[in-house]
Amino acid sequence: MTDLNDKYNEIINKRQQINKQLQDIMSSPILKKYFRLKEEDSKLYFEELELYRRIKYNEYNNCNHLLVYSKVTFDNFDCKTYKACGCIKCGIDSAILDFKKNDLPFDKQVMYDYFSDHCLYGNIIDEECDLELAHAIYSKIVEVYPNIDEDRLIKYFRHSLKCIKYSRISNERKASRVKRLSLRSDFSKW
Ligand SMILES: [Zn+2]
Repeated sequence: MTDLNDKYNEIINKRQQINKQLQDIMSSPILKKYFRLKEEDSKLYFEELELYRRIKYNEYNNCNHLLVYSKVTFDNFDCKTYKACGCIKCGIDSAILDFKKNDLPFDKQVMYDYFSDHCLYGNIIDEECDLELAHAIYSKIVEVYPNIDEDRLIKYFRHSLKCIKYSRISNERKASRVKRLSLRSDFSKW
C-alpha cells in the first residue's frame, strides 16, 4: 500500500513539474506568436475557399458552355441511357453528380454545389469524350487560332477528336501526344 501511495505521489509531483514547464512554454512570446499566426492563417484559409467558390461561380455563369458527353451510362434497371455533359471550355461537368459530395476534393465540391441551383445549358457537340482530353484539344485549338468562331472551333474539335479516337498509333507517339496536349503523363482515356 505504501509503495502504491509513494508511486502515486511521485507521479503527481512529476506531472506538476511538467505542467509548470508547459505553462512556461505556452506563455513564451514565440509560442504566442505561433498560435496567433495559426489563427490568422485559418481565417485566411476560409476566406480563400470562399473566394475560390465565388471565382468559379462567376466563371461558370459567364461561360458560353460548349458541351460534350463526358459520361454515358446505360441503366439496365430502367433500360435508359444517361448522358452527363461537360463543358470543354470551363470544365464544368454534370458527371460530378454521380459522386457523393463529401468524397470529393474542395474544387469538385464547389462544382457539385453549383448544380444545386443552376442547370447546364450550352451548345452541344454531339460527341462522347473524356472531358480532360476535350479541354486539352479545345485549349490547343484556341492557342493556334485565338480568334476562331464557334462553328470553326466545333469543326476543328470534331476533326481532332476523330483523328485521336480512330488512328492507331504506337505508345511512343501516344506519349508525345500527351505532351503536346499538356495532359497528365499517365493519361489513357483516349
Ligand atoms: Zn463552360
